[in-house]
Amino acid sequence: MTDAATLRAQFPGTPHALVHERQDELLAGLMEYLSQPSVSATGEGFPDATDRALEEVKRAGLTPSVLDGGGRPLVVGHRAGPEGAPHVLIYGHYDVQPTGPRELWDSDPFVPVLRDGRIWGRGTGDNKGQHYAHLQALRLFDTYAGGLPCTVTVLLDGEEEIGSPTLADTLSAHRERFDCDLVVWSDRSVHESGEWCVSHGVRGMLRLRLRATGPSRPLHSGNFGNVAPNPAWRLVQALASLKDPSGRVLVEGFDDGREPLSDADRAAFAALPLDLPEVLGDIGLTEMDPAFDGLSFYERLADRPTLTINGITSGDTCRTIIPDTAEAGIDIRLTAGHDPQAVFERVAAHLRTHAPDVTLTKLGGVPASRTPIDNPHTPKVARAISRVTGRDPLLIPAYGGTLPDWIFTGILGVPSIGLPLANHDQANHAPNENLRVDYFLDATAICMELLLELGS
Ligand SMILES: [Zn+2]
Repeated sequence: MTDAATLRAQFPGTPHALVHERQDELLAGLMEYLSQPSVSATGEGFPDATDRALEEVKRAGLTPSVLDGGGRPLVVGHRAGPEGAPHVLIYGHYDVQPTGPRELWDSDPFVPVLRDGRIWGRGTGDNKGQHYAHLQALRLFDTYAGGLPCTVTVLLDGEEEIGSPTLADTLSAHRERFDCDLVVWSDRSVHESGEWCVSHGVRGMLRLRLRATGPSRPLHSGNFGNVAPNPAWRLVQALASLKDPSGRVLVEGFDDGREPLSDADRAAFAALPLDLPEVLGDIGLTEMDPAFDGLSFYERLADRPTLTINGITSGDTCRTIIPDTAEAGIDIRLTAGHDPQAVFERVAAHLRTHAPDVTLTKLGGVPASRTPIDNPHTPKVARAISRVTGRDPLLIPAYGGTLPDWIFTGILGVPSIGLPLANHDQANHAPNENLRVDYFLDATAICMELLLELGS
């Protein structure tokens, strides 16, 4: 292995200076990449989108390949580093969300434009701009150093926006190709404060549907009231059995297996900036849910599971009828140590006792993922950021949301670290998605510093 100073000496100036010197070419390349539609949900732009991503991987100096698991294919690039150097797997996704109504966009989502220091277009922040920064860092290494300081595999998902349905099976089937020391995924946004951050986990999610059925069609509530049983009552009683009025979940063993935050996690959460009145004010509230009194904002999001009614549908609020069906959607956000199947079975057992005539369907389950915040790689990732920005990043133990991170920590069995590279107001999934140019350029330099740090 070569030390970082020797590797750095191969560059004219710092990675930061080099990236800024070549910014026109970097921006032009990204704009061109963004103009290829790649909407996994509708198929718009496929299969060309896969070829386009493959081309970018090739241009970055990697050996490209496609893994087709039956959905939108995975694009993979690989390049060996020096003997004994660590193998880092970089994860991003080349598919994008649908654009939604085009009239809500200020410019065509697939004709990217540069305006007010930002690039505007679908996929700018989520996720092409982010993995393009990694690919350009690899290309610049190739140009100036003729090789990489670590072994690198780039994995670009073609269906992240539809829940990566084939990713786990495809990675399991090709396990040996992904035998790495560390996964670095770049998605989501930097912290709301604008500070760069390094993250270490996500909550999982179990999605359920409860359904009660009654008469074969909606009935006149006078002609059939007290004759036909009402599925809406059955459903709300089933739902009410899941939580007491104070918000405590009544499913037996609901919390079993949960791994609480470590002291290092708690300290990291305590160090994160938070303007709670502002956060609550923004959503029209003044208090947090009293069911979790005594827990901090971040502990609520990362250390506790949820049980959320997403919606209830039955009958009609304007007509005097007995509905024929009643349905509720529920999601349970799982924390580390929670097995989705075990939680599902506990909820099913609860409903068998309390509402045996309500049908429970499991719509999907993804485990949580957590990498210890005091792992040996995090200081290197943090240093890569501070070398470019001059500031230490925020260290986030876990997010409240859900990503397929368990595939890396669970199936590949390696640490997985999140390095978000987009501005927090990127408007991902919404109209006028954008990526700030200063973040993109710093991101590219950070990705170069990351390879230097990991390889040294
Ligand atoms: Zn997304």
